[in-house]
Amino acid sequence: MSSHTETETVIVGAGPAGLTAALALARYRHRVIVVDSHHAPRNSASQGAHGHIGMDAATPADMRALAGKELSRYATVELREAHADSVRAADGGRFRVVLDGGDTVDASAVVLATGVIDVHPAHVEGFSACWGRSVIHCPFCLGEENADRRWGIVVDNADLAALSPVAFRAWTGDTVAVCPASMPGVDGARTAARARGGDLVTGTISRLHHRRGSLYAVEFDDGRVLERDTLVWTPRQRQQPVVARAIEELGVAGDARRRVRRDAPPVHRRHRH
Ligand SMILES: Cc1cc2nc3c(=O)[nH]c(=O)nc-3n(C[C@H](O)[C@H](O)[C@H](O)COP(=O)(O)OP(=O)(O)OC[C@H]3O[C@@H](n4cnc5c(N)ncnc54)[C@H](O)[C@@H]3O)c2cc1C
Repeated sequence: MSSHTETETVIVGAGPAGLTAALALARYRHRVIVVDSHHAPRNSASQGAHGHIGMDAATPADMRALAGKELSRYATVELREAHADSVRAADGGRFRVVLDGGDTVDASAVVLATGVIDVHPAHVEGFSACWGRSVIHCPFCLGEENADRRWGIVVDNADLAALSPVAFRAWTGDTVAVCPASMPGVDGARTAARARGGDLVTGTISRLHHRRGSLYAVEFDDGRVLERDTLVWTPRQRQQPVVARAIEELGVAGDARRRVRRDAPPVHRRHRH
């Protein structure tokens, strides 16, 4: 039988964002329910999340376990393993979070801390095996672990391509920007990158050659091969389905990528009318 609960705030997502929000609200003695489906968090491919004092290099699972222990001190916080299917308007200007299995939780505020989904380019063989090891989206997260290697910077922006030798020099002195041949400003960017000690090549990557996730070469669709040990490559990101559904069901202003617009008016106020 499905259950119904009333609380003050529902947080959807128990990653670093949702758990930090829960701790902050707990300090205000706020009644909070955090729901998480316990699917892989976004950085589950990483061997350890970096840059968080006191837990540098902790795995995402370690971080969640530690946060769970800290939050267990607060009587007003409940962690619940469940998937949030949708967020709807409820009576009295409140929100109703519908969980898989049919359970519902009503609250006066909902925090959607669901992270994002990195969409791996399906046509690039080897991408997923290297992701989070030698293919990195962010040098803050994994630059140190890839330092002093030969880096490729996959980018379709001439300004960043031109600046890449400078932008990544904290980690490596060997950068090659890898850009689409059709990128506007490609010739100027190549000249600027070379003047800064880097290089730029154009082409469409079709395959990553690697040994158990350690990259050693990039192959283009015309058969050319470029020796690289690390790629900085941010794939397309998409929103978690519950956010897109909430935008629709609550009538919140969304942007072209189906994210909540930063200047969207607060919905709970509108529901009261
Ligand atoms: C390979 C890789 C390495 C990274 N390394 C670092 C690093 O070293 N340092 C760093 O600061 N950052 C790192 N990041 C960035 C990192 O992903 C974010 O800092 C962090 O995970 C963002 O936290 P979050 O809470 O926003 O999202 P997430 O960690 O993705 O957490 C979102 C949670 O919401 C849950 N969820 C989603 N939808 C639902 C639903 N409908 N119902 C219930 N639960 C749901 C998911 O299961 C997940 O647990 C890395 C990212 C990647 C991809």
